[in-house]
Amino acid sequence: MYDWLIVGAGFAGSVLAERLASEHGDSVLLVDRRPHIGGNAYDHLDEAGILVHKYGPHIFHTNSRQIFDHLSQFTEWRRYSHRVLAHVDGKQVPIPINRTTINSLYGLDLTSKQLEAWLQQRAEPVDDIQTSEDVVVSVVGRELYEKFFRGYTRKQWGVDPSRLDKSVTARVPTRTNDDDRYFTDAFQYMPLKGYTAMFSRMLSHPNIDVRLGVDFEEIRQTQTYRRLIFTGPIDEYFQYCFGRLPYRSLSFKHVTLDKPWHQSVGVVNYPMTEDYTRITEYKHLTGQNHAKTSLTYEYPSADGDPYYPIPREENAERYRQYEALARQTPDVWFVGRLATYKYYNMDQVVGQALATYRRIEDRLPKGASRTVPEPRADLPASLRT
Ligand code: FAD
Ligand code: UDP
Repeated sequence: MYDWLIVGAGFAGSVLAERLASEHGDSVLLVDRRPHIGGNAYDHLDEAGILVHKYGPHIFHTNSRQIFDHLSQFTEWRRYSHRVLAHVDGKQVPIPINRTTINSLYGLDLTSKQLEAWLQQRAEPVDDIQTSEDVVVSVVGRELYEKFFRGYTRKQWGVDPSRLDKSVTARVPTRTNDDDRYFTDAFQYMPLKGYTAMFSRMLSHPNIDVRLGVDFEEIRQTQTYRRLIFTGPIDEYFQYCFGRLPYRSLSFKHVTLDKPWHQSVGVVNYPMTEDYTRITEYKHLTGQNHAKTSLTYEYPSADGDPYYPIPREENAERYRQYEALARQTPDVWFVGRLATYKYYNMDQVVGQALATYRRIEDRLPKGASRTVPEPRADLPASLRT
């Protein structure tokens, strides 16, 4: 009998498994339906021996020293500032839009000050910024919105930006200086030996058993445990009782080329052309030396594994129904991007997992995990038929 069953070996599940095992002294069974640890951050050597990310490019960035220090127990780091170019009007220019972007796209030589005025002239005032369209047109105007955001967002999300919450395109700022980094966080690094190696160290504790290729449905029939942490889709856990939460999926085309380099930066976005949204070339991210190079093309789709919760009010409303049910489900904690239906980056998921651990510690002082409640091997009473 385990103190904890944790479903999902991504950041949420693995960070909690480690804390509960090494800090709380509990026994943990960690399962994942996939054949590997790491969740969506999983990386591996491909056939050519190049380190690639199975589920698209993962770049670690955070402003939290606490989160960075926590992960630093399990990996050394490689300093990496992510840079992205957008393929627009036949040119490759920096995104986020900055001074270089505008000057090269329009053949200008504006100073930062002049660019501020130039953008202000084009910006369309929006009284109440609500959507992913509003947030962009109110800063850069319609033309640049159409070149850089509308097509990409329609491809990525399958809906027009005017029907998506402002938080989606607000992830990408606009700059009037020459800073061409994708992120401005204080800590921007890649795990030196990759994400999977970092997860592997995190999970190598005698109190943690890991079982891969195992679904929650299957394990809950046979395994007893006292408490549960669920990091899969929350609507799936509750058998879609309030209807399905929509997720956006991707299919990935991985290719290896017989030449050392394909593009000048880690990621090139295609906002106006092509069916794919972006091409990633991993050697830029990892610093690996190799005579060949490996790339991933991302093709968004409605069907497939759930990768992105879709930030729209009607979806948030449905999630709140599941969240309320989750609150009434004793001894089950819902953590992570799918279980809390939040468009979270890796560092935010780590932060959420550490905060959950602190709540567990408050509620269950060391040793208390093994006293109450009765072992569980089933769904909450509310869902038993
Ligand atoms: P996941 O990594 O999804 O892990 C959940 C695990 O639970 C999965 O492995 C799944 O197989 C398992 N599971 C689910 N249900 C069950 C079940 N019923 N039984 C058994 N197992 C189950 N973040 C960044 O910070 N920087 C980036 O550059 C970045 N790039 C991204 C690029 C893409 C294409 C995507 C999709 C995401 C990106 N992210 C990035 C976000 C990052 O992937 C997530 O924040 C993080 O991986 C979420 O961790 P998690 O543990 O919540 O979920
Ligand atoms: N986006 C865009 N054009 C770009 C880059 C981003 O329209 O060149 C929009 C798009 O809607 C995207 C969102 O901004 O989904 C967030 O971009 P980010 O790069 O953060 O996406 P992620 O890496 O999470 O897929």
